[in-house]
Amino acid sequence: MPTTTPRYAVIGAGPSGLAGLRAMQRRGLDVTGYESSPDVGGLWNIDNPRSTMYESAHLISSRTTTEFAEFPMDSTADYPSHRELRRYFDDYADHFGLRELIRFETRVDRVERTPDGGWLVHATGPDGPTTDEYTGVVIANGTLAHPNVPTFAGEFTGEILHTSAYKDAELFEGKRVLIIGAGNSGCDIAVDAVHRAASVDMSVRRGYYFVPRYLFGKPSDTLNQGRPLPARIKQAVDTPVLRAFTGDPTRYGFPKPDYKLYESHPIVNTMILNHLGQGDLSIRADIERFDGERVHFRDGTHGDYDLVMLATGYTLDYPFVDRSDLNWEGFSPKLYLNIFPPSFNGLAVLGMIEASGIGWQGRAEQAELVAAYFAADARDPLKAAKLRADAAGQWPDLTGGYKYLALERMSYYVNKDAYRRVVRRSLAAFGEAPVTGPDAPSAAADSAASDTAPATAGARA
Ligand SMILES: Cc1cc2nc3c(=O)[nH]c(=O)nc-3n(C[C@H](O)[C@H](O)[C@H](O)COP(=O)(O)OP(=O)(O)OC[C@H]3O[C@@H](n4cnc5c(N)ncnc54)[C@H](O)[C@@H]3O)c2cc1C
Repeated sequence: MPTTTPRYAVIGAGPSGLAGLRAMQRRGLDVTGYESSPDVGGLWNIDNPRSTMYESAHLISSRTTTEFAEFPMDSTADYPSHRELRRYFDDYADHFGLRELIRFETRVDRVERTPDGGWLVHATGPDGPTTDEYTGVVIANGTLAHPNVPTFAGEFTGEILHTSAYKDAELFEGKRVLIIGAGNSGCDIAVDAVHRAASVDMSVRRGYYFVPRYLFGKPSDTLNQGRPLPARIKQAVDTPVLRAFTGDPTRYGFPKPDYKLYESHPIVNTMILNHLGQGDLSIRADIERFDGERVHFRDGTHGDYDLVMLATGYTLDYPFVDRSDLNWEGFSPKLYLNIFPPSFNGLAVLGMIEASGIGWQGRAEQAELVAAYFAADARDPLKAAKLRADAAGQWPDLTGGYKYLALERMSYYVNKDAYRRVVRRSLAAFGEAPVTGPDAPSAAADSAASDTAPATAGARA
């Protein structure tokens, strides 16, 4: 390999990329960050042209279960707003001196392999195109940027938008609105719409489980801290608790879920149920076809609309790297621990995890493992070889015993407890433990936050 001192690139300066830079910096690795926007924060920076954030958005996982353990948030809000979170990532980058490592307004266009096993990163920045060679490249360009836009029979002649383009509720003023999909973003946006629109309907395919933000006066994902319960017991315990708090969503027209609690991502929004109870919006069946301004539903009913909002989620997109280099299989790359291509070709992906309650700390633990691996590969090859040997064997079960729905958006879903346990175990093989607090940068304690609380946030649709 021509590079004498190993050099690493991190693509993206959102929560995952920042965690990657920090983990590499802590190990004294030579690292360069690439960020297409002018600032850090990823999608939490609403001014980032790639951000899919909207004005009313707040965390749906609670602050203490989401923040980086090494850098607690200076906030008293349980569910801070996106503006507060943007400041948090600004402060994080400043505190650890990460900005100096990042080339801002520099978009990575292509990552390609060199004949001797290194990687060329082709980018376009303020001074034009650049090409640099690296030993390893960490991809942290986000999973919620590229809209999933399904095709529908017929043609809709009104306005049609994906939630990725939604910013604030002014857009709904006086309109007849149909929201397709009732994931977390769809429900947030429906709640925004009821205050401005002439009418709001939501078309859904399947039933959902709704989790309140507070249970017994506390953020619901902070309750019952302790050891994780086995899947079946947790489902049996939490299902009646949720039903006691939220009632039966089929009363409002939602179909009965054809799956068990936690087998798909729960909706952390009970305001939607209040508005349904107030008659502010209605649930409609799945779409059959469009016909001008008219939408026909599969139950034989129809409605007329000015605006259709597609809350149909996102699709994974790593446009600058060959699919074969990331071992794509079906809807997503098939990566060891959702991080490493099985060939250990020098690429690593951060943030390709959807999970209830994984938080940024879960992403930071991924970053610790990547940095530990790269550092060992350069300085202690036997330890690096051990991780590769583990990956050559049977891959650990990351589902925690839950049978996740076989959907595109669930194709890289993990159970946070199972996932973090395996990542921490892998990290321990390098003689390391995740950072657990601001005053204990190398402490070896367990950083799990809320093992048996209702599992809630993280994924959006
Ligand atoms: C409305 C909403 C609410 C959410 N709520 C929660 C929550 O409550 N809890 C939770 O844990 N998660 C939540 N999420 C999930 C969210 O994705 C994560 O919190 C987090 O932002 C993921 O960080 P990331 O760094 O992986 O990706 P991103 O935040 O998407 O950052 C990716 C970065 O990469 C940059 N980039 C992309 N392509 C390139 C390129 N080619 N070259 C250079 N730079 C590039 C982008 O500009 C961006 O800055 C929410 C998401 C949304 C949309």
